Amino acid sequence: MFEFARTLQQCHAFQPDRDDMVLVLAGKNTILSFAGTQAALPCRKEMEELGSYGVIFIGMLDDRRCFAREIPESSAVDLPEPLRLYPIRQFLFEFPESWRMALCRARELLFWQGKHRFCGQCGTGLIASENDSGLNCPACRSVYYPQLAPAVIVGVTRNGGKELLLAHNRNFAGNLFSLIAGFVEAGENVEAAIHREIWEETSLRVKNLRYVASQVWPFPNSLMLAFTAEYESGTAQADGEELSDLGWFTAEDHPELPSPGSVAREVIDRIFNQ
Ligand SMILES: [Zn+2]
Repeated sequence: MFEFARTLQQCHAFQPDRDDMVLVLAGKNTILSFAGTQAALPCRKEMEELGSYGVIFIGMLDDRRCFAREIPESSAVDLPEPLRLYPIRQFLFEFPESWRMALCRARELLFWQGKHRFCGQCGTGLIASENDSGLNCPACRSVYYPQLAPAVIVGVTRNGGKELLLAHNRNFAGNLFSLIAGFVEAGENVEAAIHREIWEETSLRVKNLRYVASQVWPFPNSLMLAFTAEYESGTAQADGEELSDLGWFTAEDHPELPSPGSVAREVIDRIFNQ
């Protein structure tokens, strides 16, 4: 189980314990400690030998204190056994939900702190709040909180749910097709974002939006909000900018789909299994 802790400076109040867990981010990788094929998160004593230690207290993971630390990828190339680099994207789909939550929190907080070292109003260096997740400016007293980028992802169906709209994004590898997705704009609610994204990217109008699930996607700070919608009108056309191809597919006949574990796949499976 992972329990959130909001006080970034709590780590300074604790006596460091060599059994504390440390989530280390090194570029697109994290570091795991392997005993045979069994992976564990590294503890502070293993990381101290690398000259690294936890700097942000992110919460309690399986009743142990858990810290997050970012190191340059170049300093993690020759790791001593039993430590090994492990791709973050793979980690998110293969390990328990509690580990996933801890890693997402670590990555989003480290990203946000890295981008907020100075006050945007007066330029003074920011310091972590003792009371919450904020960063405070000691000069002008501005307060900054972690920022998330909400995004919508939508399974559009027609023909009583038998057909699902799937699209190939120019950034997707190979012949992968997925759902229509995009960021919520400033000043826009989630429903408006869904209608706008689908119209802009596919020239379709949809109706009957239904919320399905959400997923933290820390690349670098998204919160994916997944919905289904029903086709209303229009002829589906890829916009040619973001999407290069799209079409209506069935459970029996469809292209390559996103990996299991992603919220996109959860929505697709739910529609195809109905
Ligand atoms: Zn300031």
